[in-house]
Amino acid sequence: MTRCKFCGEEVTWITACSGDRILCNPNIVMYWANLRGKAKVVTQDGEVVCADLDGDLGKSTGVGYVQYFSTCPYGRRNRNNKNTRRINHESH
Ligand SMILES: [Zn+2]
Repeated sequence: MTRCKFCGEEVTWITACSGDRILCNPNIVMYWANLRGKAKVVTQDGEVVCADLDGDLGKSTGVGYVQYFSTCPYGRRNRNNKNTRRINHESH
């Protein structure tokens, strides 16, 4: 079993049709394909699409796995900290 190293949540690796292994939530969910959607979803065909994770039940595009780092708040925060923590004492 794989767990998120930031928050300990259960995660799983999904292989996309491109051959990339993508860290995802282990639960399969409905998605609504949307180019401006906040989440990335690996579909059952192995394609990676931008999507929303809620909408009209009758209009869902299909089911797939959500890329984990589009939903993990800890992962996102850690990545930002690495770049924003800087030392500004070089003015002389
Ligand atoms: Zn996490």
